[in-house]
Amino acid sequence: MNYKTKFALITSLLFTFISCNNNTENDKEVNGEETSEKVTLANDAHSFSNPNDVAVKHMHLDLAVDFERRTLSGSVRLDLDNKTNAEVLHLDSRQLNIDKIVLDNGEEASYELAEDVEYFGQDLAVNITPETKSINIYYQTSPEAEALQWLKPEQTAYGKNPFLFSQSQAILARTWIPCQDSPGVKFTYSATVKTNPELIALMSAENGNTKTGDGVYHFEMKQPISSYLLALTVGDLEFKSLGRNCGVFAEPNMLEKCAWEFADMQSMIDSAEALYGAYAWGQYDVVVLPPSFPFGGMENPRLTFATPTIIAGDRSLVALIAHELAHSWSGNLVTNETWNDFWLNEGFTVYFEQRIMEKIFGTPYEEMETKLGMGGLKQTIERLNKDGQIDDTHLYLDLDGRNPDDGLTDIAYEKGRFFLQTVEKAVGREKFDAFLKQYFTENAFKPMNTKRFEAYLDEHLLKGDSALYAAIQPKAWIYGPGLPETCPTPESEELDKVTTQIERFTTGTSASELEVEGWTTHHWLYFLRGLKGQVNTAQLADMDKAFGFTNSGNNEILCDWFQHCIALEYKDAYPSMDRFLTTVGRRKFLTPLYEPLAATEDGKAWAKDVYERAKPGYHAVSKNTIEGILYASE
Ligand SMILES: [Zn+2]
Repeated sequence: MNYKTKFALITSLLFTFISCNNNTENDKEVNGEETSEKVTLANDAHSFSNPNDVAVKHMHLDLAVDFERRTLSGSVRLDLDNKTNAEVLHLDSRQLNIDKIVLDNGEEASYELAEDVEYFGQDLAVNITPETKSINIYYQTSPEAEALQWLKPEQTAYGKNPFLFSQSQAILARTWIPCQDSPGVKFTYSATVKTNPELIALMSAENGNTKTGDGVYHFEMKQPISSYLLALTVGDLEFKSLGRNCGVFAEPNMLEKCAWEFADMQSMIDSAEALYGAYAWGQYDVVVLPPSFPFGGMENPRLTFATPTIIAGDRSLVALIAHELAHSWSGNLVTNETWNDFWLNEGFTVYFEQRIMEKIFGTPYEEMETKLGMGGLKQTIERLNKDGQIDDTHLYLDLDGRNPDDGLTDIAYEKGRFFLQTVEKAVGREKFDAFLKQYFTENAFKPMNTKRFEAYLDEHLLKGDSALYAAIQPKAWIYGPGLPETCPTPESEELDKVTTQIERFTTGTSASELEVEGWTTHHWLYFLRGLKGQVNTAQLADMDKAFGFTNSGNNEILCDWFQHCIALEYKDAYPSMDRFLTTVGRRKFLTPLYEPLAATEDGKAWAKDVYERAKPGYHAVSKNTIEGILYASE
């Protein structure tokens, strides 16, 4: 998934409360799942649950979707593994209305819902007995449930029917299902979902690809997953197969376009399998959601959720699909145990994505991606430094007491990738690939934390070789700030050509005389980023005339272009930017525009006007961030 950030501190009172709640359970053991040996889960400061005492092994959902009331209602059955004869099951619950809880012996259970804590919700403490094998919780979600976005027909691409999608990462699963909402807890699940007969319901599980006619859908996820991978979407969607075990769901008027854009999906799967072993989840589909989806993509198992902003018409933004697919190994198979270990999900995934893209599109393409990644990473480090958040440039994070969603930046992604590149360079690609393949195989369906990864790296790859430690310096990467001296410098001949054109343009050559033939999205992004702070309004107008940036159909290019327009108050582009901000809800594109707009009085007034019109189409994740920017100091 893709995060962008600002931090939200919560009270030290809360921190103490959560720490106390979990510390007592720290030393006990739990069975991860049937296939794994015993592991003790690390203390997860972002969950009230007590999985080391009693863990959820399987979940069965029975839910009805009500678009009128914007609720899901029904029940969840939780099957338990009670390791310590515990008499209380702690679950995470937020914004939920609990009707009653029934034990497997038919008796109604007593339970206590603690005070609501900002971001974290409530500790739902259910009294059970050592003999309790399962409980049924009858509940409904609130229309404000942060994981769920309910769209009116006019907010979809096809425009005829309402639409619903969920986003559970990081700790939003608890806003639609009472559960042990900690990434270290893995369980299987099944579900029955009832909706309008003209719509199809899909989950991150085995499902059909056509409408059933009666609106009732059954799902089964046989492999254990973490709660943040629970996902549901309901809408007017159609399916097109793209190969042996993959396909795409999209709204009817988008289906052919999406299928064309994702034509390389099967070869991505084949390349990934050739690198790091068999795909463990059977089918791999992508569902293209309406534009309000707040992220680029979300790696829900078997069914990636994706933003339509990657449908550029030239397949130039499909690295995102390689990224979400790679999560089928890094993240979904071997999972960060807490959000402090997030780099184990994302750093590995960016590295893996890069390898898939290199295989399919060649080395020059991969080099451009990597060099652009380094540019973004350096900016992030600079910003965090300036804001006094240097500790957040470590790979291993301390997010305790903070909303993990706001605390995660692209450090996990890009610094993580460059760390793994450094290891690859030191040991050689062949050895590193063998190591990664073994890592994914041996740790499949298990949580992984930073300490255990370090031990695994030592045992299986570095083996006490002091020359290797010196060439890599793993501790500096994981527990140190910024970029260690061992960090490689990405090179790209293609982008060097762009640098030449940047030099020509800034020294007086007009835009129409620049040599831009054959440039792809990556060239253009590098061009626009390289010009930051170096052009005047007349040059912006010159570029716009030559390259038509204001009317580009490519959202990545638009986002970088608009940043120039804001900096120089180039008003010709504002109607187009208004359209962009009111149709796209992807946070990665919103933050870099709202932030500079909010820096001036006029800009802020304009941004607020746009935001008020745009917000019905934004997901809560994006709304929280943008309101923090526009209204924080008021
Ligand atoms: Zn990701």
